[in-house]
Formats: sequence, structure tokens, C-alpha cells
Amino acid sequence: MQTVFIQCTRLEMADNDRPQAITVLGAGPAGLAIAAELAERGQRVTLRAPAPRAPWAASYGAFEPLLPSELQSVVSFRFPRPSWIDRTGRVSELDVSYVRLDTERLQALLLARAERAGVHLEVGAGRNDADGLTIAATGRSPESGSSTQYQTAYGVWARLSADWLEPGRMIFMDLGGSEASGPPSFLYATREGKLHFLQETVLVSDARPSFAELEHRLRRRLQSRGLALGPIEREERCLIAMGGPPRPGRGPVVHFGATAGLTHPATGYHLAHCLRLAPLLAETIARAQGESPLRLAERARKTLWSSERKLRYRLFDYGARILARLDQDGLGRFMENFLTSDGEAMASFVDGGLSVPRTLALMGRTFRHADPQIRRQLLGLAAQTTPQRHLSSTSQRTHS
Ligand SMILES: Cc1cc2nc3c(=O)[nH]c(=O)nc-3n(C[C@H](O)[C@H](O)[C@H](O)COP(=O)(O)OP(=O)(O)OC[C@H]3O[C@@H](n4cnc5c(N)ncnc54)[C@H](O)[C@@H]3O)c2cc1C
Repeated sequence: MQTVFIQCTRLEMADNDRPQAITVLGAGPAGLAIAAELAERGQRVTLRAPAPRAPWAASYGAFEPLLPSELQSVVSFRFPRPSWIDRTGRVSELDVSYVRLDTERLQALLLARAERAGVHLEVGAGRNDADGLTIAATGRSPESGSSTQYQTAYGVWARLSADWLEPGRMIFMDLGGSEASGPPSFLYATREGKLHFLQETVLVSDARPSFAELEHRLRRRLQSRGLALGPIEREERCLIAMGGPPRPGRGPVVHFGATAGLTHPATGYHLAHCLRLAPLLAETIARAQGESPLRLAERARKTLWSSERKLRYRLFDYGARILARLDQDGLGRFMENFLTSDGEAMASFVDGGLSVPRTLALMGRTFRHADPQIRRQLLGLAAQTTPQRHLSSTSQRTHS
């Protein structure tokens, strides 16, 4: 009898110690990062995606202080003091450095890390109806109907008719030289080796202007600066689905990355914030090892969508809906004021990591320092925007 009892106890211990299998869907930055973080904490992880090694198409940038340190090795260009240009053509500098990443090296780094940690890569398209704990990091298609707003941008890597930006220089926002009707846009430009990367960007809008329209604006803007595009080496057509309430997932499925609604609703940034959240999420899951998939998923959702983060994203979303209604002049006036804020706070806001009190302080400061015209415009737009309805519908859907 005694022997049997000892054997049972050992078996139970072995079962409890054995990590449950976790499925991660998606091999973008969010999927690879969370898979690696989980496997590094001893979890058995299978990552499933239609083509886990297919090259990523997007090019990524981030404010340097917010970039996880492991990504320093994939920085391709560093801009210690990015500039911005106001509506009159005056150039100012931001006191926070910015980096552009090498997409190929970024993907290789995250893939290698996941494989080194023992993540099993599987080809296939998963569904969100698995029994075990599933982390869905399947991205967010602009066609899914879930987004209320979009960021649209048309970018080119090209030589210019004359040298414009010196190596090591970038323009975070050029707010001048465009008299667009329709959603306002600005130019984001970096010097990358011999080429310039020039991207005409509609920050956030209900509308989706065509890429042809943005290319036209880009050429016209350059012309107004006495510049013309030389041969184009590469193009980037960027359409980011934004806005709406958080999408935490349900049952044993936890959403992560763009799927979860973690893309900043007002700026479109996501990468650095998402990669900083991955260890937090993995730690919660690893610590609760042995609990049912449903319990694990609930804990994971609570970590990801803490009350603070939910409120923060509601504030971002509210701000985004006001920003989306500004015209070209209004966007210029707003940004000329916003970009003079403290660089560290401004960068954290853009990234999505700024806490609620600091977000409120930054919003308050931006409003107080705004010129009377934009202040009146912001007040008018705020009155037309419905935070209460939005807040309550958000919380209902968050818990669904
Ligand atoms: C052109 C562009 C440029 C951007 N630039 C920046 C930037 O500079 N800085 C920044 O912070 N953010 C940027 N973003 C926003 C954001 O960081 C990216 O969209 C980021 O790629 C989102 O990461 P993700 O892993 O959540 O989703 P994705 O990168 O979209 O990856 C989704 C993955 O899921 C897979 N998948 C889809 N359906 C299934 C399924 N059913 N089962 C399994 N797998 C599935 C896909 O094949 C893919 O591997 C940019 C976005 C775009 C579109």
C-alpha cells in the first residue's frame, strides 16, 4: 500500500510540473516575441502561422529610449536629434533619439531567439477555438471591419534631385508645403545611406486616401522645397487599422499585438511597446502554470488589459478621434505645440507606454499652450466627440 501511495504522489507531481502546451498563432513581431518569452520560461510552445519564415514587409522605427535593449543589434540607422518643420518652414529639433530598424535582421533575431528557446514552428492557419491556452497574435487586417480609423502612408526609398538630409538626419514631421484637401498629411523623412526614405503620412483618419493621392502630395511637397524624386528603389504602402475598444480575446484565447488593439490609436506605433509587454505577459502565464487554460487566459488578459492600460487606450482613442477631424492647418497648429513638449514624455506618448497621469498632464499642457484658434477648434471637436458612450461601450466589449 505504501509503495502505491508513493508512486501516485510522484505521478501527480510529475503531471503538475509538466508545462501545458501553449499555442501561439502568428509569426509577426508579437507572435515571435511572446512565443520566445514563454519558451524561455519553460513553457511548451507551438507557434503556428501560414508561413512562419515569410519575410516581413513593413519597415519599423521607434524612439530609441523605448526600444528593448536586445533590439539595439538590429538598428540600421540612428538619429540622435530628429527635426521637425512647422507650417512656415522653420526647423526645430526633438531632444530624444530615434532609430530605424533593419526588418530582415529584426525578424531573424526574433525567430532565432524563439527557436533557441525550443518553440516548435508549425505551418498552418490556426483558429481561435482551441482547447488549450492560445495566444492569438494574428495581426489586424484593415479589411476586418474592426477598425474605426486608419493610418495611411505612402513611402519611397529614392535618391533626390539634390542632397536634402545629411546622413544621421531625419524629419519626424514636416508640417509645411502641403495644401491638401481631404485628410491632412505630413512628411516623415530619413536619410538611409545614399537614399532618402520619404513617407507622406495621414496620421489618423476615418478615410483611407489612395496611395496615388499620397504619392501626388509627396511629389508636390518636394517640389515646393525645390526637390524632385530620382529613381525609386523601393516603395512602402502602409495601411494600419486603428481605433476601437481593446480586443482582449475570450475563453482560452488571449489576443496579443495588433490583434489585441495594442497599436496606438492616435499614432500607429506598436512594435516597441508590444515587445516590452511580451515578458510581462509570459511571466504571468508561467507563474500560474498548472491552472486551467481558462484561468490562465483570464490572468493573462488582466495583465495585458489592466485598468490603467484600458483607461490609457481609451484616452488615446478619444484623442485620436479628435485628431482625425482636424484639417491640414489644424493638424499643423496642434503638432507645432505637441512637439515642443518634453521629449521623453512625447516619445512615450507616441509609443503607447505613457501612464494615465502623465498622458493627462501632456494633454493638459498641449491644450494650455495651444494658440486660441486651435484651442477653440479642439474644444468644438471635443464637444462633438462622445467619450461617455465610447467609454461605456468599450468596457462592455472589453469584458465580452
Ligand atoms: C507598413 C507598416 C509599417 C509599420 N511601421 C511601424 C513602425 O515603424 N513602428 C511601429 O511601432 N509600428 C509600425 N507598424 C505597426 C505595427 O507595429 C505592425 O503592424 C506590426 O507588424 C504588428 O505586429 P503583429 O505581430 O501584431 O502583427 P503582424 O505583423 O501583422 O503579424 C501577424 C502574423 O499572423 C499571421 N496570421 C494571420 N492569420 C493567422 C491565422 N489565422 N493563424 C495563424 N497565423 C496567422 C500572419 O501570417 C503574420 O505572421 C507598421 C505597420 C505597417 C502595416
